[in-house]
Amino acid sequence: MTQFSLTDDQIAVRDMALAFAADNLAPHALEWDEKKHFPVDVMREAASLGMAAIYTRDDVGGSGMTRLDAALIFEALATGCPAVSAYLSIHNMAAWMIDRYGNEEQRQRYIPRLATMELIASYCLTEPGSGSDAAALKTRAVRDGDHYIVNGVKQFISGAGTSDIYVTMVRTGEEGASGISTLVIEKDMPGVSFGAQEKKMGWNAQPTAAVIFEDVRVPVANRLSDEGQGFKIAMSGLDGGRINIGACSLGGAQAALDKALAYTGDRKAFGKRIADFQALQFKLADMATELECARTFLWRAASALDAKALDATKLCAMAKRMATDVGFQVANDALQLHGGYGYLADYGVEKIVRDLRVHQILEGTNEIMRLIVARDLVGRGNR
Ligand SMILES: Cc1cc2nc3c(=O)[nH]c(=O)nc-3n(C[C@H](O)[C@H](O)[C@H](O)COP(=O)(O)OP(=O)(O)OC[C@H]3O[C@@H](n4cnc5c(N)ncnc54)[C@H](O)[C@@H]3O)c2cc1C
Repeated sequence: MTQFSLTDDQIAVRDMALAFAADNLAPHALEWDEKKHFPVDVMREAASLGMAAIYTRDDVGGSGMTRLDAALIFEALATGCPAVSAYLSIHNMAAWMIDRYGNEEQRQRYIPRLATMELIASYCLTEPGSGSDAAALKTRAVRDGDHYIVNGVKQFISGAGTSDIYVTMVRTGEEGASGISTLVIEKDMPGVSFGAQEKKMGWNAQPTAAVIFEDVRVPVANRLSDEGQGFKIAMSGLDGGRINIGACSLGGAQAALDKALAYTGDRKAFGKRIADFQALQFKLADMATELECARTFLWRAASALDAKALDATKLCAMAKRMATDVGFQVANDALQLHGGYGYLADYGVEKIVRDLRVHQILEGTNEIMRLIVARDLVGRGNR
């Protein structure tokens, strides 16, 4: 695999997403953040351009594109609003899980409407008592004829309350990863309710809340794959999710860097443009270099996932850790280069910093990314 440049098709896809972000996301991003508005209508417009089921098969309405294409799209969308791009990435991950692990009937039932975002999807793994240690989850699904009776609470669920379907990891068997299964739970099934919307540091353009299941009767026909496969399904969804969230960090950071370039080229101090101070030029050079390194490596990990490479999980963890750390640092440096104005909402940089901070925490914290990489390194008995 050598991939150091994009094809004409990839450039066209990226440019389409960049234009969408500039026209439909960037002009509203600050207002959505302030008013905590979830722009479902705008996401449906993105869906009409193929951005809601990007790497889902096209026989059921998906776009049939690659993980690398998806990374280009999420980075581009995040230049307009990282929070909206990140939500679309979660929806895409859930759609892919149904496409990849669902049977034909489930694919036909859900994917066409997920691709248009007539249905919006959430991913439910985390619980109040289990985040990083996801295999300890306690939401219980007990078989009762053709149904499961589901009881439990999912915590921090993006889209909760608005989403129509919840791809949910539940315990159908013994303790540990092998006792977990995946159910598609619908919002209007009796017994599904939601906690209060969380008040957050960033990601205000999308809702986050607990999803509560009380004696919810879920048809066995809504289970993806076999009983006991749920942890594997959840983790394989996250391989791609980590590429996507890393791409969102790169897009937000690129927008922050572009703002810093414009600002330092304009702002005067000590009789000259602050961009003429070599200390600031070196800072800008380092920001651009680190961003480009992270981007190049993220593409490598996305390509490994496309190729189903044996080390894809490790590369996705490495890329997520690197892209989200670099993205946050670059955005924070861009804020610093704006001086006091960077701290003001109107300049749009502090919003990017707030949005990007959570990328270091979710889809597996960056400590857990190190754990995955270290397990691969040390777990081989040191060769
Ligand atoms: C805004 C937001 C949206 C979210 N959206 C979703 C969603 O849609 N669906 C979903 O399922 N979840 C979602 N999450 C949950 C998110 O994935 C978890 O918060 C994350 O996995 C960490 O879990 P935790 O918060 O329970 O932290 P904990 O697991 O309690 O971790 C606390 C600290 O300990 C560290 N730690 C834990 N174990 C180890 C270890 N073995 N070695 C080293 N360090 C360790 C962690 O890295 C962290 O720093 C969201 C979270 C937020 C904040």
